[in-house]
Amino acid sequence: MKVFKFGGTSVGSIENIANVKNIINDGQKKIVVLSAMSGTTNQLVDIANNIKENALNQAVDKVNKLHDVYFETIDKLIVNGALNADVKTYVSGVFNLLLESTYKPFSEVLENNIVAQGELLSTFMVNAYLNQEGIRSALLPALNFMRIDKAKEPDMAYIKANFKKVFDAANESEIYITQGFICLDDNDDVSNLQRGGSDYTATIIGAAIKAEEVQIWTDIDGMHNNDPRHVENTKPISNLSFDEAAELAYFGAKILHPQTVTPVREDCIPVRLKNTMDPEAYGTLISDETSENGVKAIAAKDAITAIKIKSGRMLQAHGFLRKVFEIFEVYETSIDMITTSEVAVSLTIDDDKNLDKILAELETFSSVEVDKNQSIVCLVGHSIVNHQETYKLFQILQDVKIRMISYGGSRNNISLLINSKDKINTLQKLNDYLFELVTL
Ligand code: ASP
Ligand code: MG
Repeated sequence: MKVFKFGGTSVGSIENIANVKNIINDGQKKIVVLSAMSGTTNQLVDIANNIKENALNQAVDKVNKLHDVYFETIDKLIVNGALNADVKTYVSGVFNLLLESTYKPFSEVLENNIVAQGELLSTFMVNAYLNQEGIRSALLPALNFMRIDKAKEPDMAYIKANFKKVFDAANESEIYITQGFICLDDNDDVSNLQRGGSDYTATIIGAAIKAEEVQIWTDIDGMHNNDPRHVENTKPISNLSFDEAAELAYFGAKILHPQTVTPVREDCIPVRLKNTMDPEAYGTLISDETSENGVKAIAAKDAITAIKIKSGRMLQAHGFLRKVFEIFEVYETSIDMITTSEVAVSLTIDDDKNLDKILAELETFSSVEVDKNQSIVCLVGHSIVNHQETYKLFQILQDVKIRMISYGGSRNNISLLINSKDKINTLQKLNDYLFELVTL
């Protein structure tokens, strides 16, 4: 069986929902994971923030506005009287719950419950729509099988066992619809897989049922070789290996949740990225096949903090790095890039929640410099570190101030740290010279 996931834009309008129907209605039984309609999760996050800040009028206002948008959509989408009434009953229940939330004291659990409603709404509506269109579809409630453990990792044993139970209990159908993003935590409270998490839901389910393939349907024709929001003339990449896709997703390619390929790479379950608005386009196939050498794609990750740690005692001393790393471990902060010299070590983090505490500890045995607003530019491709064109990088970027460089950590990745203000220029230059074959 295949798992299909549709993102927020794909379920964000009546026309796109009709496209989704055409795509999934191919006579093959499948699991369909849906995001919330585009914009909804942002609205729900804002509502939760208003409650947190005690701006209750604003929260109520937003709930009411969203309510009206949903009721308008339902009237256009579900024209069958009985189904229309059924959906409105469910959706009213959701909006009552949101209004009640504005009277409750703020907590993380309350926030997670609010934010979870987007996927509950979209799946209920789309399921009813499919039934109206004569397609046999059933809902599989994600909160009955999707769970993360204490370390916030998917609890695969639980998910496998409970997915099977939920699936077996559902009515025999062609299409099995479930919510992306939402899950339970180890206390059985409602939680989520972080923003963009529906991709992750799809591959977790894919791994749990050993799916034939996972298809991620978005509003772009696959993973592009550079960031299409900032760079001109980007192109979709037809094939990526799991390693390449994992590096790109982690280092900033916004199309995929950073963890998307993790659950499926061990079983080599292919992940195909497709465009709901242009289903004929090939998209991107992520699989265990490696292809030609050379730079295949470039991505950038912002809001990086660089820390330079200098110590006289580092010179010829062993155990220095362990001491440094232990501090980051204590504060559960992961390090992305690292470079060393004989007297200093520079590293980067993207989560600076505990930065002050980390710095205080580092300063007990070293001098520390911090640079915020940095970006990691990551070049990915098969064996790029050995490729004969790679040396050109320094020529191409001779005007850009490179703060750190990581080369050789894996054969498939070269990462550069630059000031975020130089990012767009750097991405465009790399694009022009590496992909457009502008000669130096
Ligand atoms: N609705 C969630 C979000 O906006 C999850 C997703 O779309 O993948 O982040
Ligand atoms: Mg997404």
